[in-house]
Amino acid sequence: MKHLMSGNEATARGVYEAGIKICSAYPGTPSTEILENLPPYQKDVYCEWAPNEKVAVEVAYGASIAGSRSFCTMKMVGLNVAADPLFTAGYMGVGGGFVVVTADDPSCHSSQNEQDNRHYARAAKIAMVEPSDPQECKDFVALACQLSEEFDTPVLYRTTTRVCHSKGLVQWGERREHTAPPYRRNVRKFVCTPAHAYANHPLVEERLRRLEEYGCTRALENGLNKREMGDGKVGVITASVAYEYAKEVFPEGTSFLKLGLTFPLPMDLIRDFASRVEKLYVIEELEPFMEDQIKAAGIPCVGKELMGLLYELNTQLLRERVLGEKADFRKTDVTPASRPPALCPGCPHRGFFYTLSKNKNYVVTGDIGCYTLGSAAPMAWKKTGRIREGTAGRKLMPMMWKAWTPISRTAGSAVKMRSSCSGISSKQAIPTSMKDMASRTEFFTTRRQRP
Ligand code: SF4
Repeated sequence: MKHLMSGNEATARGVYEAGIKICSAYPGTPSTEILENLPPYQKDVYCEWAPNEKVAVEVAYGASIAGSRSFCTMKMVGLNVAADPLFTAGYMGVGGGFVVVTADDPSCHSSQNEQDNRHYARAAKIAMVEPSDPQECKDFVALACQLSEEFDTPVLYRTTTRVCHSKGLVQWGERREHTAPPYRRNVRKFVCTPAHAYANHPLVEERLRRLEEYGCTRALENGLNKREMGDGKVGVITASVAYEYAKEVFPEGTSFLKLGLTFPLPMDLIRDFASRVEKLYVIEELEPFMEDQIKAAGIPCVGKELMGLLYELNTQLLRERVLGEKADFRKTDVTPASRPPALCPGCPHRGFFYTLSKNKNYVVTGDIGCYTLGSAAPMAWKKTGRIREGTAGRKLMPMMWKAWTPISRTAGSAVKMRSSCSGISSKQAIPTSMKDMASRTEFFTTRRQRP
């Protein structure tokens, strides 16, 4: 039976079917709904929110070392926080299959930059899998686990906003249990001393070579990579949601090489595909990640000179930039109401924000996520937006932390200084505690005001 699911819901189903035992995550759009959709499978999959992305990776990687299949999710900027363990895991390899989701956000719908996390796979020298629709979101999880185990590598599972949130019909399967072998202590493999890391590097390079070979052969058989040959005039190499757009825009007869395993690139397969078409396009969002490598291999292709480096793609843009066809718009006289983002009605932080907004004679620095809403009317207390526990607000942050700690406890939030409150809905927020929070904050801030 088929089910209508978003990419994130389908990924959660994929986690269940792949026999994964542990999922650890830090929330962040567009990744959040993956873990939110795992509770129906709680008998088989243990899942938890982590206090940050680094912890999420470490929890999941610990389970992998113990032999279980494990999964963890975050948005793309979260991978910056988790980069340290990920890179080290890349050298140490895995026990059970270990898959890390990075949900990228082209066009910055909900993010502070547009970073393209495909570069992380290349920098960490690990395999990368990219689904393009909800069915693949589900199916590729099991394939990613198999890849991880066979090639002894963490797998970066890269999605984007449109892959995460678009819906499609998904054919479910059964859960295939994965039995963890008995734990065996393995210092050589899982203690990353310099000597071990030095000895591991050649293994990592050999792993990439074998993965590239796999991308040219078995990945075509199991559907991770797909080749659709047309009349040989135009060929398109693409991946992720860009494939869906290209399928809609390019004319009939176009050949497609659609990659699900996007690092390492299957260069022999690409070379063969390129030799069968007269003109080759590379269609991808954001950076010329595939295009640069293809050009570096001496294969002529057209890509970013048409598509540009900015923002997410869509069918209209593709049609305009590749085929030169302008979209025809109809104008209406209706002006839609402006609906800027706002704090949830019962947000437990409103009292704190309100009090800060009443004290105008100092600069308040804030964190990412819902904190950014503090810069907007009507509260408008926040004057700078920072990156987590960085340096810009060092002088002010300690005092803010002191104020925040009792507040976050009152609100039931697990981590001070982080505002996205997974698990705290506006219904759960306690209105009576707002007065208490505001008075504590008032007391604190008035004491610390500058003369
Ligand atoms: S998600 Fe949580 S922290 Fe953010 S506005 Fe809503 S209640 Fe407040």
